[in-house]
Amino acid sequence: MAVAGGCQSPPIADAPGERTPAVQGPRIEWGMVIHGGAGTIVRERLTPELEQQYRTALADALRAGHRVLRDGGSSIDAVIAALVPLEDSPLFNAGRGAVFTADGVNSLDASVMDGATLRAGAVAGVTDVKNPIVLARLVMDKSPHVMLSGSGAEQFARAQGVPVTPKEWFFTERRWKELQDAKPEEATPSDERGTVGAIALDRSGRLAAGTSTGGMTNKKWGRIGDSPIIGAGTYANTRCAVSGTGWGEYFIRNAVAYDICARVEYANASIGAAAAEVVMTKLPQQDENTGGVIAMDREGNIATPFNTAGMYRGWIGANGEPTIAIFSGE
Ligand code: ASP
Repeated sequence: MAVAGGCQSPPIADAPGERTPAVQGPRIEWGMVIHGGAGTIVRERLTPELEQQYRTALADALRAGHRVLRDGGSSIDAVIAALVPLEDSPLFNAGRGAVFTADGVNSLDASVMDGATLRAGAVAGVTDVKNPIVLARLVMDKSPHVMLSGSGAEQFARAQGVPVTPKEWFFTERRWKELQDAKPEEATPSDERGTVGAIALDRSGRLAAGTSTGGMTNKKWGRIGDSPIIGAGTYANTRCAVSGTGWGEYFIRNAVAYDICARVEYANASIGAAAAEVVMTKLPQQDENTGGVIAMDREGNIATPFNTAGMYRGWIGANGEPTIAIFSGE
């Protein structure tokens, strides 16, 4: 199949200790990488105005995370600082602007992971929490658990004093129309995506990752995707951080985020080779257009491979200048 992503993937090393040839990507001293979803994102489908809105929203989110890191904050704080404005933006399928379930509600999933400690928090199927990523962080910090779901997660939110919001906050005309369009086809997953994710490397060399989504249009039966699942949509350890976006079922089956970090840890693969091998070779062998990831290692090497037409993405290094890309080949 034709693959529209960023880079070619060399074979992964067989023997531990043997370093695979690096797939060169940008490198930063400290900073962060974000995504705003992968899918059939082609120039013809975006008006110049809308494209500009996406670029501005991504750059603003990167600057918010950068401020935290610049002032000596932790990678986990930077991840949250970048994801909150993306959740609050109606452009992305997370928080406000989330897609609708078949029942016409917005059911939100999010997760975070602190690479230095392997602590993690996640929420699935919450419907009235304004910023699910903030709640995921509280699950990590204030509960003995990793993942809370549905009404229990909402009870926890209330106990923690997390802002809840009338459900209308999440409503956008665009996502409502997508649901009406998806219904007659009975749930072939829509390619209208927009999950948001962030990974950060702070000035102390600590990595963190987070992901937030409304999931897939027309989802039923309490379907949960990869985004709140540690190891599937989100993973971070001391060497590697990953956030994914795409067709969640494939990301779960392939433990995508963990697989990439495991290749770095056990096969000594470069982050570029590891991410490319999973996203550009392994997933396309199973289906087309499954999605993409942002990935970074502890040296600040960045990889952003995707096997879809586009992926909203950007990164920012110590100099505070955001770089934004949307389409393939940018
Ligand atoms: N991965 C998300 C899910 O399956 C959707 C997406 O990233 O577009 O829930």
